[in-house]
Amino acid sequence: MSMIMEKLKKMNGTVCSCGRTHTFQSKIIAGSGALRELPQIIKSFGAENPYILSDINTFTAAGEEVCRLLDSVGIKYSSFSFDDGHLEPDEKTTGSAFMHMRADCDIIIAVGSGVINDTAKILALHTKLPYVIVATAPSMDGYASMTSSVTLDGIKTSVPSRCADIIIGDTDILADAPEKMMLAGVGDMLAKYISICEWRIANLICGEYYCEEIAELIRYAVKCVTEQAHALKSGEKEAVTTVFDALSTGSIAMNYAGISRPASGVEHYISHVIDMRGAEFGDAVELHGIQCALGTLVSLKLYEKLKNITPAKDRALKYVESFDVELWNGKLRSLLGKSAEGMIALEKKEGKYDKQKHRDRLEIILQKWDEILEIINEELPSADSIEKFMTELGLPTCISEIGTDKSLLPDIFLASKDIRDKYVLPRLLWDLGIIDEFAEGINT
Ligand SMILES: [Zn+2]
Ligand SMILES: [Zn+2]
Repeated sequence: MSMIMEKLKKMNGTVCSCGRTHTFQSKIIAGSGALRELPQIIKSFGAENPYILSDINTFTAAGEEVCRLLDSVGIKYSSFSFDDGHLEPDEKTTGSAFMHMRADCDIIIAVGSGVINDTAKILALHTKLPYVIVATAPSMDGYASMTSSVTLDGIKTSVPSRCADIIIGDTDILADAPEKMMLAGVGDMLAKYISICEWRIANLICGEYYCEEIAELIRYAVKCVTEQAHALKSGEKEAVTTVFDALSTGSIAMNYAGISRPASGVEHYISHVIDMRGAEFGDAVELHGIQCALGTLVSLKLYEKLKNITPAKDRALKYVESFDVELWNGKLRSLLGKSAEGMIALEKKEGKYDKQKHRDRLEIILQKWDEILEIINEELPSADSIEKFMTELGLPTCISEIGTDKSLLPDIFLASKDIRDKYVLPRLLWDLGIIDEFAEGINT
């Protein structure tokens, strides 16, 4: 077992210094040849009629092998494979996966990483059946999350789902994943620099719950990934394992904390806005982790710029006084079409533009400015070093490289503050009254 996994598992079920007991029910079976344990896993659930779900790519990557394994031990199964390698996670995909499932199925085995897992997690929640995911690429950290990212009624949203009871990460399968998917996994880990930094800032400004031990676990996972990422290019299995273990750590850390703070911050919201434009207008989208890496680079540059400003109470109050919510909602609608409505409705509940609440936050920000700077200095690497790292790996460093019009980036950043009720960089910039000039100055 890797050091990352050891640290991760050690925390399970123990009382933490934050006062909580962090628990996680799923079991991760990782390593070379891990898939061979599948028949035994099925038997351990007392199941006899597995339903195997895959798509055309993941079936070739591991689905065939799953079928062979079950044949060899005489386990009868039903199998459905989407003949599309670029599935949309929406009603049609979920409905299709449901309708191909036999009524007597007693265990779900999904073979895939992104959409297949998101879809199977919804099936698992509604059927209450045991669920096993056979990972085919170390590309993102959604394996263990309790929600699925889908398009519902034309709007990109998170719906409740249930994470797998068993996650199988067979290194022999993962190492054969396309290089781009592995790089996306690295990108999803780079995001964690920002997420931990923003978690601490939100703890300081808003009094949000924070756990230093979970943060430390994530920092360690990020360090391991950045040290070994270059070896991914030559397909070194140790590096592949590290990325998979680190991503698992990201998603389990979210379970431990009960919130997404350990693994996602504004960089994820930048990626969400790009996805929303894709769903609404058919704009180009890239793999989640690749978009998150870009979001990380944009954010790092802005945090660096933030270190050079002096917060001014007058400027902040004047900006917020003149901020017109209706005007901003109009801008959101033109940027994101009907998917803006969910964000506008969210603001009505959370009241982030409430002027009194702003004054309260501003007082704390002004008082604790030195501590905020200290957090930024402690948590974030330089934008230059990450840009160099991304370039060496072959990750895109400019949003136009993934097919997004560069002139949209300021608005994409502005909209990233409206995605969830979470205090992230654009919220801090709004509180300081400098968000517009920072957005306009983005150069990535
Ligand atoms: Zn803790
Ligand atoms: Zn992610």
